Amino acid sequence: MSLREQLCEYGRRAVELGLVIGTSGNLSVREGDLVTVTPSGAPLDRLTPELCPVVDLTTGKRVAGELRPSSETPMHLAIYQTTDARAIVHTHSVFGTVVATTMTELPPVHYNALMLGGVVKVAEYATYGTPELAANVRQALEGKRAALMANHGGVTIGATLEEAFEATRLLEWLCEVYVRGLNIGKPNILTEDQLAAVIERTLNPPPL
Ligand SMILES: [Zn+2]
Repeated sequence: MSLREQLCEYGRRAVELGLVIGTSGNLSVREGDLVTVTPSGAPLDRLTPELCPVVDLTTGKRVAGELRPSSETPMHLAIYQTTDARAIVHTHSVFGTVVATTMTELPPVHYNALMLGGVVKVAEYATYGTPELAANVRQALEGKRAALMANHGGVTIGATLEEAFEATRLLEWLCEVYVRGLNIGKPNILTEDQLAAVIERTLNPPPL
């Protein structure tokens, strides 16, 4: 599957799973110095490969594709320029946005949070599409696979689009568990020691 076909496929899945409503999210994938990104203002479940713009990593100039790149392209490029990410998924998923609207971080309530780097930070608010937002997100992402964006949504990175997409699903699941937990009582947060024990067990699994 070509990178453009992958974008269309994961765009469809994001809408199907309710992670994205209409045009409220964007995905990209990097190959060398080129970044293929979802177009601006197009519903993610109705994309076709030729519609997806390809932009230059450094200049952001469009080199292929019929539509304008997503308004959040500056954020995608800033992340590629400073991390090892090869794919990025950004959505306004419900529980991620709830946490991003009410808290400064998502604490690790489940050990799977380690797959995203542990605590997920909420990047400070800035207007969508601006270099300020890109800088805030880049900072929140340092050493992590995911960040939330204040009063906006979430963003995840991966070595492949599949990885970034699964990270977005996990982020949304963790946010939902935490928010639902808060509705019942005070969710227990895993301690540093408990998280270290998970890492230790992953690195040294017991013999079969
Ligand atoms: Zn957005």
